[in-house]
Amino acid sequence: MPELLIRSGANDHEVVRDLLAPGAGSVLLPRARPLIDRLVLDAHVAAARPELAESARDAGVPVLVDPLTIYLQGELREADRWSRLPFGEARKLDAAELANPFYVQKLVAEVVEFEVGQGATAIVPPYPYVTSPDDPHLDIAIAMLRATSRHMARNGIALPLVPVLCAQLQRMGPEKSWREGLDRFAAVALDLGPEALAVCLSPAGSPRTDSYNKVLRLFAATRRLKQSGVRVFAWRQGFYGPGLVAAGIDGYETGIGTKEQANLASAIGSRKPGKKGGGSGPGIYLEPFGRSVTSRVGETLLGHRSMRPKVMCDDERCCPNGAASTIDQRRHHAVRTRSRQLATIENQPHTRWRLHQVEKESRAAVDLAVQANAVLKEAKVPEQIGTRGYEALAGVMDFFLASMEEARAA
Ligand SMILES: [Zn+2]
Repeated sequence: MPELLIRSGANDHEVVRDLLAPGAGSVLLPRARPLIDRLVLDAHVAAARPELAESARDAGVPVLVDPLTIYLQGELREADRWSRLPFGEARKLDAAELANPFYVQKLVAEVVEFEVGQGATAIVPPYPYVTSPDDPHLDIAIAMLRATSRHMARNGIALPLVPVLCAQLQRMGPEKSWREGLDRFAAVALDLGPEALAVCLSPAGSPRTDSYNKVLRLFAATRRLKQSGVRVFAWRQGFYGPGLVAAGIDGYETGIGTKEQANLASAIGSRKPGKKGGGSGPGIYLEPFGRSVTSRVGETLLGHRSMRPKVMCDDERCCPNGAASTIDQRRHHAVRTRSRQLATIENQPHTRWRLHQVEKESRAAVDLAVQANAVLKEAKVPEQIGTRGYEALAGVMDFFLASMEEARAA
């Protein structure tokens, strides 16, 4: 069963509690399952809001605490909340420091202890951001995996492991780099008997700029990891997540109306001294676009007579007052809708149907975006909805469908 992993923000507690309440999913989903399959918490959010993990524990929903040790690779503001964690640092650590075995051991001990203390139900080992197969951070990633497993065995910590591979899509994604990159990481990770593998390939998830080749690379590389037979989650893939699930991946992780795309270089850069940080609040999730748009775009489209019926939530149990509910209860709506979408994909018995469904929806999104952009322009809203990513996604679905046909014919 594919999983929806939701990364909760610091201010999402009431929303998460509502969504995890007993029966919250049963009215919407064909068979009883929680709306959130796993709760993911940034380490500093888990520390600041222990009630989030408590709500999940009360509901019997697994919790992952993301240590976000990629931030060690950038300089952060002194006041940055992540830098104040037991294993946090405001200064930038170079590869030689990160590779030091004594440092790795200390980091692993602090991260594991922290996650256990925050109520994590599985351990995410510390992980760096790897740019290419010959980046020394790949060896560091592997060393961190092994050290985590050793530390847990030595200290009798019997929780499952969910390693995260966090890598640059452009140089780690192409087929010619798999053997020296993804495969090397996966071989070590598999030796540890993980519960699942999370893969974060970045940057990806921009409907405005993503090309066909880029989306194909993302899907092919993610499926490569899946070939090992382990459960694979697409990390930070709110935009391509449903497509990846249709293509055989076991689940995806996303924020609530925010953090729907992977862009790690920018995530690290945004915490630099001198940057304001904070980011914008949650956008409004529009199902036909499979992503959230800014408040201004959402309100304009939901307020437009001929656009409204095309983009509004058509489930009265989710948004009983139509567009007003979608706008006011945007975070509830985002999670419920994503959960329902995943159940729809799951209910289609054949991979072919699943791929075809995503292909059809992506093509429809292109047409709808063109109409929406005319409405936005007329309303003098400077933003536009990108179409390139949808075209790319539809093309990739076509490619997989054609390869399946070929395989059948052969
Ligand atoms: Zn809704």
